[in-house]
Amino acid sequence: MTNYRDILKSTDPDVFANLCGEEDRQRDGLELIPSENYTYPEVLALLGSVFTNKYSEGYPGRRYYGGQEFTDAVERLARERACKVFRAEHANVQPLSGSPMNQAVYLGVVDPGDTILAMDLSHGGHLTHGSPVSHMGKLFNFVRYKTTHNQGAIDMDEIRRLAKEHNPKLVLCGYTSYPRDIDYAPFKEVADEVGALTMADVSHVGGLIAGGALENPMDAGFDIMTTTTHKSLRGPRGGMILCKKKYAKKLDASVFPGLQGGPHMNAVAAIAVTLKLADTVEFRDYAQQVLQNATALANTLIAHGAHLVTGGTSNHMIVINTKTWLDMDGRQAEEMLDRVLLTTNKQITPDDPLPPLRPSGIRLGTPAVTTRGMKEEHMVEVGTIMAEALQSGGDETKLSALRSKVKQMTEQFPVPGLEPR
Ligand SMILES: *Cc1c(COP(=O)(O)O)cnc(C)c1O
Repeated sequence: MTNYRDILKSTDPDVFANLCGEEDRQRDGLELIPSENYTYPEVLALLGSVFTNKYSEGYPGRRYYGGQEFTDAVERLARERACKVFRAEHANVQPLSGSPMNQAVYLGVVDPGDTILAMDLSHGGHLTHGSPVSHMGKLFNFVRYKTTHNQGAIDMDEIRRLAKEHNPKLVLCGYTSYPRDIDYAPFKEVADEVGALTMADVSHVGGLIAGGALENPMDAGFDIMTTTTHKSLRGPRGGMILCKKKYAKKLDASVFPGLQGGPHMNAVAAIAVTLKLADTVEFRDYAQQVLQNATALANTLIAHGAHLVTGGTSNHMIVINTKTWLDMDGRQAEEMLDRVLLTTNKQITPDDPLPPLRPSGIRLGTPAVTTRGMKEEHMVEVGTIMAEALQSGGDETKLSALRSKVKQMTEQFPVPGLEPR
């Protein structure tokens, strides 16, 4: 096989140096951002393959260009596997990422100006769920629900009240910063009462649903489910729309030609492999371990006095209110943890009084460290390092000792697909 690295190194030493830098960063630190993961070597191979050369506008058997024998085959495999893994009647694997995936759904099943009921951004909703700064927030009339004040539960009475008052065309659940599993059946009930469609955006937890560790909204009779493919699912960057057969035509047409042009067939091929790997005992064990690791990490942080939003976790994610816990904003906390090679992200908390770039908390999760092979006992270690770093007051001697501990752990657990140094 052609050695692409050697060619790149001689063509563009600047970009090559940055690639090596990023490899080192991923090798030497622990990735705790809950939306990130280390993908499979097979996915890296396909993303860098000649499938990227091919234009495949249209769908298998109905393309606008010739030469589709192999692209048709991989897209069919991806769709069939997606339907099997998520128990869905139809799958579209062409969305270029999570945001266009959600846009394609809205534009496909509701009209501009129509009402969509979705979670408030500061309570865990995604930008594409109608944030005023997103184009979607301007095109549709988003009505926002919130979690309950004390324990962050989803308030179904409030959702029912808002649904009856505003008559949404679409009821949306599934979040980007919500550390609990979701009971999908009541959403379906409320939507049925007002004649709305149901959509679950499971972008964060798609892998955990595929692995059978969390509830599947399709089992609760949801009409539409969307998920990114690069978060807990461990695949390439991309998005997928799963739906009942009766929405297949509308949603396919909405993705192409409605919103996008040629699909990224290198990513589609990589999604096919990802779904094959998701349908294994090993992946089901992985999904379970992600949850056990999150619980172990949350319990360790709580034992150190941390204030967790909703009081804990029942999925892969933990949101810490560092402002109320340590009088430290999320940016300061994120930077302090960077200094000990733990990567997290600053995060707004429900009804956050602070601005988004200096919010009250941080968000973390266990999909990536679990991919590296870490178990509960390692989460106890990580949680302890974290709490000590956050309470170090920036003392460089303390931080340097903690950094060495993280280094030792990263050497013990190599990143799949990256040669050890
Ligand atoms: C990550 C995410 C998205 C968007 O995915 P991108 O690939 O970043 O565009 C959409 N919805 C939710 C709930 C997400 O967590």
